Amino acid sequence: MTKRGILIVISGPSGAGKGTICKELLKRNDCYLSVSATTRSPRAGEVHGENYFFLSKDEFLKKVEEKDFLEYAEVYGNYYGTPKSSVEEKLNMGHNVILEIDIQGALKVKENVQDGVFIFILPPSMEELKQRIIKRGSETEESLMLRFKSAYKEINYISKYNYAVVNDTVDNAVKKIEGILIAEKCRVDRIKEKILDSKEGLIHEQLYD
Ligand code: 5GP
Repeated sequence: MTKRGILIVISGPSGAGKGTICKELLKRNDCYLSVSATTRSPRAGEVHGENYFFLSKDEFLKKVEEKDFLEYAEVYGNYYGTPKSSVEEKLNMGHNVILEIDIQGALKVKENVQDGVFIFILPPSMEELKQRIIKRGSETEESLMLRFKSAYKEINYISKYNYAVVNDTVDNAVKKIEGILIAEKCRVDRIKEKILDSKEGLIHEQLYD
């Protein structure tokens, strides 16, 4: 029987650097990043099906009705949702899947996926967070203020997560997440059936593959 992959939920305030960390994690590790659906307009350079599935509000709400999302949330006036079937398919094939989603979405996933790994990305400081959002340059003044105000509130939800990772440098943050994943793969509740089933003893490949 193929061992189910690990669902890794990465969230945290806008500007904490979740996107960059996820890209680097994908480069260095064998895992999938779930592509979300959104009703927000594409930013320059964003590609449909790669960065997001860009949908109209009607298309999105139809998918909500058809229960196509593992979770969905309204974030800064737009809808965002995680397609359920592709995530389930990858997990069942034994692949680790990363969701880079907002805090409301992460909390909904936590209700349904008890063995998920929930990681909160923190900026080194709030001032640094502000500078990162400004530097990104993709926001209007209004959206920038909204994102910054939300960041203050969102940090209060950190206690709902399993791990907190400060994004001081991308390399450090990615190394910490890789360490978390190694520890998660060793957790007895993930591998106990394999240990108990094993007639041959604790063979490395049997436990972790
Ligand atoms: P952005 O518009 O900057 O790409 O994303 C805005 C926020 O929406 C980010 O915090 C991002 O993590 C979150 N987000 C992206 N995809 C999803 C999703 O499928 N579900 C939820 N709940 N949030 C998402």
